[in-house]
Amino acid sequence: MKIIFATGNENKLREIRQITEGMDIEIVSMRDAGYYTDVEETGKTFEENAYLKASAIAKKCGLPTLADDSGLEIDCLGKEPGIYSSRYMGEDTPYPVKNAELIRRVEGVPDSERTARFVCAICYVRPDGSSETVRATMEGIVAHEPAGENGFGYDPIFYLPDRGCTSAELPPEEKNAISHRGKALRMMKEILEKEPK
Ligand code: IMP
Repeated sequence: MKIIFATGNENKLREIRQITEGMDIEIVSMRDAGYYTDVEETGKTFEENAYLKASAIAKKCGLPTLADDSGLEIDCLGKEPGIYSSRYMGEDTPYPVKNAELIRRVEGVPDSERTARFVCAICYVRPDGSSETVRATMEGIVAHEPAGENGFGYDPIFYLPDRGCTSAELPPEEKNAISHRGKALRMMKEILEKEPK
C-alpha cells in the first residue's frame, strides 16, 4: 500500500519509515509524489492542523495520506507556544533565541510549576475522505538553561526529570522511544496494520 506523508521534513520521513519497516507499506514524500502544496495551518488544535494537511493532500492526489502537527505546551504560559511552536517569535528566528526567551519568561517560576509537554497529533485520511487521528505527549519541565546538542527546536530547554537531562541530551533512539512523535507513530502503525491492503 502506498501512503503519502504530507511533510517536507526528511527527519519525520525517516522516523516513520523506520517504524513501519516490515509492513506492506510504502511511505512516499509529498515531493516524490509530485505535490508541493503548502497547506495553511489555520486549525485551533494540533489535531485540526494535522487533519487539514492530510485531507488537502489526500483530496489532490487520491491516495491515503498521513500528516502530523506537533509543538511545545508550557503550562504556566497558558500552553504557549502550542500550535504556534514553529511560528513563535517568527519562523526565521533561530531556536537559541526562542529558547532563551522562553527561559526568560519562566524565570523565578518553581520547578513544580514549570511543567510542559511536547504534543504530536497524526492524522490519516483515506481517499474516501474518512480519517483517523492519534495524539501522544512527552511530559517534562522547562529547563533553567539550555543543554544538549541532539534533537532540534525546543529540545535543549525540555528537561526530563526522570532522565535527569534534556531531550537534546538523549541519543536519537532513546528520544524516539519516549517521544510524543515516536509514541504517536506507533499508535498510527496499529491503525495502518488494520487497513485493507
Ligand atoms: P511541525 O509539527 O513541523 O509544525 O513543527 C512544530 C514545531 O514544534 C517544531 O518546529 C518545533 O519548534 C517544535 N517541536 C515539535 N516536536 C519537537 C521535538 O521533538 N523537539 C523540539 N521541538 C519540537
